[in-house]
Amino acid sequence: MHRLALALAAASLPTFAFAQAAGPQTPATLEASADAALTDDVLAWDFVEGITTEVGPRQAGTEAEKRGRDWAVAWLNANGFANVADEPFEMDTWVRGTETAEIVSPYPQPFHVAALGTSASTGNRGITAEVVEFDSVAALQAAPEGSLKGKIAYISNNMTPTQDGSQYGFAGPARWVGAGIAASKGAVASVIKSVGTDYHRNPHVGGTSFPEGVKPIPAGALSNPDAANLERMFDRAGDTPITMKLVLTPRDLGTTTSGNVVGEIVGRDPSLPPVLVACHIDSWDLGTGAIDDGAGCGIVAAAAKHAAAAGQPLRTIRVLMAGAEETGLWGSEAYSKAHIDEPIAVGLESDFGADRIWKFESNFAKSNPDLHKRIAAAVARFGVSTGTGVATGGADINIVRDQNGAIIDLSQDGTRYFDLHHTPDDTLDKIDPEQLRQNVAVWTQVVGLLANEPGPIKGQ
Ligand code: ZN
Ligand code: ZN
Repeated sequence: MHRLALALAAASLPTFAFAQAAGPQTPATLEASADAALTDDVLAWDFVEGITTEVGPRQAGTEAEKRGRDWAVAWLNANGFANVADEPFEMDTWVRGTETAEIVSPYPQPFHVAALGTSASTGNRGITAEVVEFDSVAALQAAPEGSLKGKIAYISNNMTPTQDGSQYGFAGPARWVGAGIAASKGAVASVIKSVGTDYHRNPHVGGTSFPEGVKPIPAGALSNPDAANLERMFDRAGDTPITMKLVLTPRDLGTTTSGNVVGEIVGRDPSLPPVLVACHIDSWDLGTGAIDDGAGCGIVAAAAKHAAAAGQPLRTIRVLMAGAEETGLWGSEAYSKAHIDEPIAVGLESDFGADRIWKFESNFAKSNPDLHKRIAAAVARFGVSTGTGVATGGADINIVRDQNGAIIDLSQDGTRYFDLHHTPDDTLDKIDPEQLRQNVAVWTQVVGLLANEPGPIKGQ
């Protein structure tokens, strides 16, 4: 692949190396363009390979995320997108510090731990306290008020891999609300079994939250092998207390600036509402943000380009690479606030890795059955089934939900997603180029069809 170096005007910025705008050779039809992407998609790979190599981790609100946005802006410009911008917004930024956990007694040994987003600090000396075990969030909720005073709460979960990722909804609350419930019952800290399906000694990070009026406590995630070890200790220890020393020293940086990167393939009739394709540009900090969500940004941007390769689409295709999704959907909310008066025809998001698309659903099967059926028929040749559910979209297309607009979900195979999600293992080598190409081909077909749809595309 021929590469060219793009020297940026600002001397303080690094030089990025990009592939030339490639894609199918001027295919005659949208179908031909989508089929070509199936065997020859370099753009999506180029994006995720480039940003993970030249930028790496892109934690929300930090200088690293800013470098990621600069990189994405330069990539979109280099690939011929119009109206490329980085729209700033303010956010509260949190960064991790030192993180260690060890069992002090009765079976002394170190564990692997990482702080959850918005965790409080233990201070450099750490917290040493008895651990109380809960096998679920429901069990924690049932603990009497004040019963955790001076204790570290350990909250387990039992997550299994599923194609549709539905186990995240089942296991996720241990991370999302466990620490807040523990704090409200007097715990001095909490640790969870990672919300993940792997057996590596990697904690899965991610945000947690504390209810209004509840003072945040230090909150960590143990790697799954360490969580299993702790559970075996409880089985053996009987009435003997298990004591853990936990050191987590994250810091709140206060208000910093993030931004939403946008770019467009301008349609033949810019007065028509655009098709919005979204992803998020930030990532958690332990990996390089390949599957979450560098791949998603590569997929949506490549699909927009491939869809336009067969000819300028009727509607504008707008790419939104939202900033600061991971730490509280800041970018998506800022985008909705800034653009709520600009109608969107239909919104789609890619934020579930890079594996193959297996299911299509919309929220207009009843209100616009003709379009729904045409899309279903168009993606069938890629092995995509049509679901019976109603699409709800993801975190990065808040604006479409706020407008009660049309939404499409292209479900990716999530069987291995939660092995990698929010861990140091979220790196480029986990992306399967063949599955990525199928993903982009389906996206190309759907985005192209929508962008050439003359009639109104109503939500349900
Ligand atoms: Zn994500
Ligand atoms: Zn994520």
